[in-house]
Amino acid sequence: MTDGKLAVIGLGSIGSMALWQASHLTDSVVGFEAQSPAHARSAVGGDTRLFRMLYRGTPKYYPILDRSRSLWAELEAESGQDILTRCGGLSIGTVGGPYIPSLLETTRLNGADHEILSREAMAERYPQHNLRPDDIAVYDPHAGALRTDRAVTAAVAAAQANGATVHTNTPIDDIQETDDGVVVTSGDRSWTFENVIVASGGWSQKLMPDHLKAATQTKRIFLSWFVARDAAEFSPERFPVFIRISGDRSMYGAPTVDGVTVKATLDGRGAPTPKADSVPRDLTPAEIAETTETVAEFFPGLFPNIVRSDAFPDLYTRDGHALLGHLRENSRVYCATGFCGAGFKMASGYGEIAAHEALGKRSFEGLDFLRPQRYKTN
Ligand SMILES: Cc1cc2nc3c(=O)[nH]c(=O)nc-3n(C[C@H](O)[C@H](O)[C@H](O)COP(=O)(O)OP(=O)(O)OC[C@H]3O[C@@H](n4cnc5c(N)ncnc54)[C@H](O)[C@@H]3O)c2cc1C
Repeated sequence: MTDGKLAVIGLGSIGSMALWQASHLTDSVVGFEAQSPAHARSAVGGDTRLFRMLYRGTPKYYPILDRSRSLWAELEAESGQDILTRCGGLSIGTVGGPYIPSLLETTRLNGADHEILSREAMAERYPQHNLRPDDIAVYDPHAGALRTDRAVTAAVAAAQANGATVHTNTPIDDIQETDDGVVVTSGDRSWTFENVIVASGGWSQKLMPDHLKAATQTKRIFLSWFVARDAAEFSPERFPVFIRISGDRSMYGAPTVDGVTVKATLDGRGAPTPKADSVPRDLTPAEIAETTETVAEFFPGLFPNIVRSDAFPDLYTRDGHALLGHLRENSRVYCATGFCGAGFKMASGYGEIAAHEALGKRSFEGLDFLRPQRYKTN
């Protein structure tokens, strides 16, 4: 006898989605969360995450992005909540630089919908952006801003409505595979499950075998917000999410969600941090200086002073791809972590893959690049 078919450890961005998806497959799924779902110090923090179908690098993410897009709509239908603000997205960069040609190459391989916008077209349609003479943009009609806290809360509530059990304020200290199942322990309590998904984000190393600890690192990612001179110019109706890499400067952001501030943050600045629990929240003088200088150049319509900032943890792997799969052949422990600062847009898809595969069902082909077994045990 076990305490259930499946336990999900960590009910943040991906664990909440795994719980929700598992609740469609079994009424015997239990979630454990060290604090509470979507708590303020998890990688859910900061109001929004960019969703986009246009991606540079490997085309292998496209099927997961496509599935995630459908699943965000399903979560909206099941919960009755608005989760993805479908405002479109802009990728902006130097015409022959490292970003746009590579993005267009991946887009060509995937056949993703897109529109190339010249500097002149940008000035007409999106005058909020002050482009450099050699910048162009690629518009992604399916991009948008995900409301992170709402998404996670909705997924957990939907799972509970479907029969899932949730233990909050229950940090799991240890996981042991035995002949009877997987024993998970929190303090002096323990439970045995047929299968376990580890989705504990920046905290995951504690529950990982040594070779995966060695292949991962918790990093701090910061966010910054600015006041708009005219908030209507930065509303979702007029201002798509964006990523911009122009010469030596890079930034990404989202339209205003509060009618006052706009998120605009330096891109690709994950920095190692020893503990997910104590990520330094204050920006350094160098971070403040580069952020405000970039906003002053890119957005004349924003006051170039940071009015809000924060920082959150995420787990990074050595090769920049997530850990999604069983620890090893015949293991009953499934990893869904290591999303390297890019996991939220696909959280619904990752959650579905994790729930299906942990319960022994087939999922996508072509996921070898994400499997934990790519890191050898010695
Ligand atoms: C500032 C920032 C900006 C980002 N921007 C984007 C973006 O625009 N687009 C995008 O797609 N991605 C983005 N990302 C990446 C994305 O947000 C993360 O990859 C994703 O949220 C990670 O989700 P997770 O479930 O692994 O971790 P989390 O969401 O942090 O969830 C982990 C949960 O596990 C719980 N937990 C930990 N240990 C235990 C334990 N032992 N027992 C029980 N529970 C435990 C934690 O309390 C937490 O709730 C960004 C990340 C950050 C930090």
